[in-house]
Amino acid sequence: MIRYAIFDNDGTTYRMPEGFVEAVMDSLIRYAAGELMLSYDETSAERSRLVEKYRVRCTEFVFGEEYGMKYEGFVQNAYMKVPLEDFIHPDIRLARTLERMNMPKSILTNNPSEFGKRILELLGIADMFERVIGSREVGFRLKPEKEAFERALKITGYEPLETLFVDDTPENHACAKELGMTTVLMGQGEYPYVDYPIREIYDIERCIK
Ligand SMILES: [Mg+2]
Repeated sequence: MIRYAIFDNDGTTYRMPEGFVEAVMDSLIRYAAGELMLSYDETSAERSRLVEKYRVRCTEFVFGEEYGMKYEGFVQNAYMKVPLEDFIHPDIRLARTLERMNMPKSILTNNPSEFGKRILELLGIADMFERVIGSREVGFRLKPEKEAFERALKITGYEPLETLFVDDTPENHACAKELGMTTVLMGQGEYPYVDYPIREIYDIERCIK
């Protein structure tokens, strides 16, 4: 029986507006460029190299490993500088849907939890989640890695068989399913490890009936 729900944030609780991903990346690169005294393009190329080197697509992690840059610096000076108000607006319909889903919930995001919380506040759904589990909380072992899910389950304290996992990236569902979670793809397509594809996040209630 499903007693807990873990939601992805970007692309799942809200559709990422045009220019959003670019704005976040731009803020990260600009901050790193200033700290490292490199040009924007050099920093961007360096990020690509480091992601390849460490095999982790996490800017705050790879620059931290390579140059000792602090996680908090990235959060405060890059992530929190993204003009989120321009991109994200309250979603009352989602707030009501989540409220009706009568079970505790968390967010599992590959971004810093501070950034995730700010997004939830702007959507008007921050109160609906008991936790935001971000890149640092899972030790930078990000989705789709199995360890991200294992660490998240350890934090929530619920068994995989009791947990619903909702995400818009199909590849993120493989390990979640392997662990025994019920998987919901926010999007279309058939995958062996997806239990329910849904067209809109508001359809989530159908998956727990
Ligand atoms: Mg996503």
